[in-house]
Amino acid sequence: MTLLWLLPAGLACLWAGVFAAFARPLAARWREPVLKHPVLAIESDDWGAGPLAQADLLGRVAACLQRVRDVAGRPAVMTLGVVMEVPDGASIAAGGGARYCGMTLADPRFEAIRAALRTGIEAGVFVPQLHGQCHYWPDTVMAVAARDTAVRDWLVSPDPARTEALPSPVQSRWVDAASLPSTPLADTAILQAVTTEAETFRALFGASPGVAVATTFVWNDTVEAAWRTAGVEAVITPGRRATCRDAQGRPACADRTMLTGEISPAGPLYLVRDVYFEPALGHDARRLADGVAERARQGRACLAETHRFNFLDAPDASLATLEAGLNAARARCADLRFLSPQELARAIRQRDPAWIDTRFGARMRAWRARLAEIPRFARAARLAGLGWVLA
Ligand SMILES: [Zn+2]
Repeated sequence: MTLLWLLPAGLACLWAGVFAAFARPLAARWREPVLKHPVLAIESDDWGAGPLAQADLLGRVAACLQRVRDVAGRPAVMTLGVVMEVPDGASIAAGGGARYCGMTLADPRFEAIRAALRTGIEAGVFVPQLHGQCHYWPDTVMAVAARDTAVRDWLVSPDPARTEALPSPVQSRWVDAASLPSTPLADTAILQAVTTEAETFRALFGASPGVAVATTFVWNDTVEAAWRTAGVEAVITPGRRATCRDAQGRPACADRTMLTGEISPAGPLYLVRDVYFEPALGHDARRLADGVAERARQGRACLAETHRFNFLDAPDASLATLEAGLNAARARCADLRFLSPQELARAIRQRDPAWIDTRFGARMRAWRARLAEIPRFARAARLAGLGWVLA
């Protein structure tokens, strides 16, 4: 008789122990908002100042987005992580390579690109986001050019440069990666730079940047605070924040992890972008549909990351895969909605009942679907006989 009582009591203790050991990630996933509908935004970085071929490509991307409508009749949305300056190669060459000189997106040479951006924004298919004044820190790129002929040639090229061609560590704007491991930039330099780039963004697009995404996902507290001052409401993250480049040049020094809806100490709301959709790297339409379906099961939005290089390098194939992916996502999730990250962030902040599900059953289903991603939790739960908790 005593043994029969001990068995469930022991099991209850074991289960309580498992939940206690994982209390923080379990609670964080319970607090994370649950969306009422499947949501998709395509997030495409690196557009703006750069190759003139972008003007035509942006027009073709916009036409593709227009052709796919969600259940409410809204066309597909692509955010453009905008870069607002590239080197002015001719001026740098004229100065003997001694001094950096930038060419901004406001330059007359970029008129066709600006027009294509405007047309897409007015049609509701493009939403500009702040990626950075430059896709590098100018002093860093100058220091690297002094010893690296490829970077020097890139810097003085008369044609608007492709920042994708820079060594990866140099593409991080918010650290000095002239030598590795990287060193932090001065806070005052970051504040000044963000103030300037927010002004450039306002002059180009007529509004403060509402959403920011750091180049190569390397940034820190000072950057977030400066973004907030500049009007940024939401920060796109991959779920963790790297703050440096390590000795091998990889993003490192991660000091924070985050889930969608968490608020940065500096004020902006974090969003997580964690579906990778790069057609030129072989990602197919099904990958996008799978990403949307899985996020929908978890009560999350699917923010799908893609880059300009797909469209510059393989325009026809990438556009075809993008359109097929959008159609596949629609076919998989009949209730799919296209929504921009800024709209999503506002819906979360305001707990908008049109988007946020607060019913206990829906929250429980989404929570269970999120648990398998917690490192070691699924294994511990199965060993303890708690496998039924996992969706
Ligand atoms: Zn980028």
